[in-house]
Amino acid sequence: MSFPLFDLAGRRALVTGSGQGIGLALAEGLAAHGARVILNGRDAGRLEAAAATLAEAGHAVETAAFDVTDPDAVAAAVAALEAGGPVEILVNNAGIQFRAPLEDFPIERWRALMETNVSSLFYVGQAVARGMIARGRGKIINIASVQSELARPGIAPYTATKGAVRNLTRGMATDWARHGLQVNAIAPGYFRTPLNRALVENPEFSTWLAARTPAGRWGETRELIGAAVFLASDASSFVNGHTLHVDGGITASI
Ligand code: NDP
Repeated sequence: MSFPLFDLAGRRALVTGSGQGIGLALAEGLAAHGARVILNGRDAGRLEAAAATLAEAGHAVETAAFDVTDPDAVAAAVAALEAGGPVEILVNNAGIQFRAPLEDFPIERWRALMETNVSSLFYVGQAVARGMIARGRGKIINIASVQSELARPGIAPYTATKGAVRNLTRGMATDWARHGLQVNAIAPGYFRTPLNRALVENPEFSTWLAARTPAGRWGETRELIGAAVFLASDASSFVNGHTLHVDGGITASI
C-alpha cells in the first residue's frame, strides 16, 4: 500500500539540532517515510552516534556539524550540502532554554537565546531557501512552542523568541510562497527531552502539567512526527504560514 501524498521517498531533509531530543525524533520520522536525512548540531560525536543508530535501522542519513548561530559557518555548510544534491526539506529545530527571573536574567543569555532560537532560522532559512527558490519548490518547518502563545514564570526571553518564530514563519511564507515554498511551524507542548530536564525532574511540575493539559500527560516525541510528515510532504501543498499545535490541547484551554 502506498500513500503518495505523504511519501518523502528520496527527498533530502536537513534537521537542525538533531543529535538528540525532538530533532532526532523528527529526523527518524522523516527517514521512516522515505527521506534522506541530514543530522546537525555542534557536537560531531553525538551526531555520528545518532547517525549510526539511524543507519542501523536502515535509514539514509548524513551528518553536517555546524553552529546555526554562525552565518559564515551556515553558508559554508549549506553550500557543501547543496553540492551533494538539493536540500528539499528544512526543519529549523535547534533551540535552547535558560530559566531565571527576568529582573536577574543575564544579558549574554538573552543574546544567546535570540541568536539560537530566532536568528538561526533566518541564517539557515535564507541559505537553504535560495536553492529552493531557484528550483521552485521546498518545505521549511520551524519549531515554535506553546510559548509562542503563552508565558510562564522565568522564561520571558524564551517566550519572546518563540513568539518571533511564529511571526517569522508568517513572514517567510509571505515572501516565499510565490516561489513554490511552503513554510509552516510546529508548536510542541511539553515533551521529555534534555532541554526540559529541570521540569522532568520536578514532580510538582508533572502534577501541574497533567492537570493543566486536556490530554492529561507529557507528550512523547514520536507524537510530533505526523505533523512533520504532513508539513514536509505534498499533502500540505497549499498550507502556508500556519502554526500547528501538538500539545495535548494545552493552548486550547485555560
Ligand atoms: P534539546 O536540548 O534536547 O536538543 C536541542 C538540540 O539543539 C541539541 O541537539 C543541540 O545540539 C542543538 N543545538 C543547540 N544549539 C545549537 C547551535 N547553536 N547550533 C546547532 N545545534 C544546536 O532540545 P529539544 O529537543 O527539547 O528542543 C528542540 C526544539 O524544540 C527547540 O527549538 C525547543 O525550543 C523546541 N521545543 C521543545 C519543547 C519540549 O518540550 N522539549 C517544547 C516546545 C518547543 P549541540 O549541543 O550538539 O549543538
